[in-house]
Amino acid sequence: MKHCTHWIGGKPWAGDAAHSGDIYNPATGQVSGTVDFASAAEVGAAVSAAAGALPGWRETSLTKRANVMFAFRELLREHQAELARLISSEHGKVASDAAGEVSRGLEVVEFACGIPHLLKGGFSENVSTGVDAFSIRQPLGVVAGITPFNFPAMVPMWMFPIAIACGTTFVLKPSEKDPSASVMLAELLAEAGLPDGVFNVVHGNKEAVDALLAHPDVRGVSFVGSTPIARYIYETGTAAGKRVQALGGAKNHMVVLPDADLDLAADAAVSAGFGSAGERCMAISVVVAVDPVGDELVEKIASRITGLRVGPGDDERSEMGPLVTGPHRDKVASYLDSGVKEGAVLAVDGRQHPVTGEAPDGFWLGPSVLDHVTPPMSCYRDEIFGPVLSIVRASGYDEALQVVSGNPYGNGTAIFTNDGGAARRFTHEVEVGMVGINVPIPVPMAFYSFGGWKASLFGDTHVHGTEGVHFYTRGKAVTSRWLDPSHGGVSLGFPVNR
Ligand code: NAD
Repeated sequence: MKHCTHWIGGKPWAGDAAHSGDIYNPATGQVSGTVDFASAAEVGAAVSAAAGALPGWRETSLTKRANVMFAFRELLREHQAELARLISSEHGKVASDAAGEVSRGLEVVEFACGIPHLLKGGFSENVSTGVDAFSIRQPLGVVAGITPFNFPAMVPMWMFPIAIACGTTFVLKPSEKDPSASVMLAELLAEAGLPDGVFNVVHGNKEAVDALLAHPDVRGVSFVGSTPIARYIYETGTAAGKRVQALGGAKNHMVVLPDADLDLAADAAVSAGFGSAGERCMAISVVVAVDPVGDELVEKIASRITGLRVGPGDDERSEMGPLVTGPHRDKVASYLDSGVKEGAVLAVDGRQHPVTGEAPDGFWLGPSVLDHVTPPMSCYRDEIFGPVLSIVRASGYDEALQVVSGNPYGNGTAIFTNDGGAARRFTHEVEVGMVGINVPIPVPMAFYSFGGWKASLFGDTHVHGTEGVHFYTRGKAVTSRWLDPSHGGVSLGFPVNR
């Protein structure tokens, strides 16, 4: 049985936790360890460590900060497979998918290596006679990151590499369901030469989160998780005067126009709908099939599902793993019954899908397809966050657009077509933050910013890319004059440019 504890001030916490939680192996359904839960006291210790490290770290030169990121990058690459196995053992996703998430996190680290360039300010000479103006960006202070279970390494890496490179110090509160990856990241950062206290990890649930939101020394909060909690974090954090970016849930639609290559579309729908068992915020959960392609597309999707290998993440033949917990699996499965009750057609029932391996108690649910879904049904309205693909039929482009833009979420969407004009129009018109054209999971590269619209984002800053750099820094504008013999004496008028 493993034991996972906090990482505070450059080392594992040595206290006795009053509360703890179980860590499961989703592929066996068995408890594999425990994780300490932080109370306000442990959160306070982590914030103090971060606040204590701040003066030294913010004064550390840009080159030295970048060098820590370069060293961290090398260590991450060296330990990528080990980290992927750890993720897989607690999350359930197959090891190749876990390695993929580490790769996408690595790209943000690589972006953060360019911090000397990213923090270059502007300079205008002679804005008034003999006066220069320039802008600089300075670290925000201690910031907190609160992250979900579905990407235990990548989502924290959307945040802390940039935050740290910007000169802030960081307290991470990862998901209590798969907490070990964050501690391994902390160990690698320490090995890379990051000073003690710059990066800290506290584990726990609402109590730890609330302590971070209430702490006066926490100046900014980056959150990724479900919409109700994102709204709560945004409202509570901003009411306490903090800068907050809170990314929420999703319901991502893939529109398939009649001229699309249906084999390409079916491959994409199955890959993006069932990869990581549908537990991705950018997973496709609704295919909007524009007449007359619906029947043929559903047939093609169903035929691809039959051959999918569902099994444990540590078996390299597995293409899809279990769901993260038993209750989550049961909730996802309940939408198959409620969908049928509300009038949908269960075209593929994942409860019948074979599972490889010898672990009947794992949190298994195979890929399912609900056809003829309509927007009023609960399987359409709710974020299911599992391997259930809904098919909505639309009579034409306009109706398809209305379905996508009418949904309260606005994280990602995709259009499949060979008509460049239709794709361009969709990109222009759709009310969603990230759009793919014949690309089902349009996750922006690290040097662009990631974020949705509407109920998928509270706050106005997306994560990573230049918006990430802005989030973790404050701007300062400086107007400077060095006296020369022409200075003109006292003037009570408002300064104007001459
Ligand atoms: P969650 O909202 O349950 O938990 C996220 C974090 O909030 C965890 O650290 C958790 O401990 C904490 N938390 C949970 N309940 C809380 C409460 N009542 N008060 C304070 N903190 C609380 O999300 P999850 O189930 O871990 O992750 C899945 C969700 O995350 C899905 O909705 C998914 O769409 C979303 N997600 C969104 C994005 C995005 O970029 N928009 C990315 C990944 C995941």
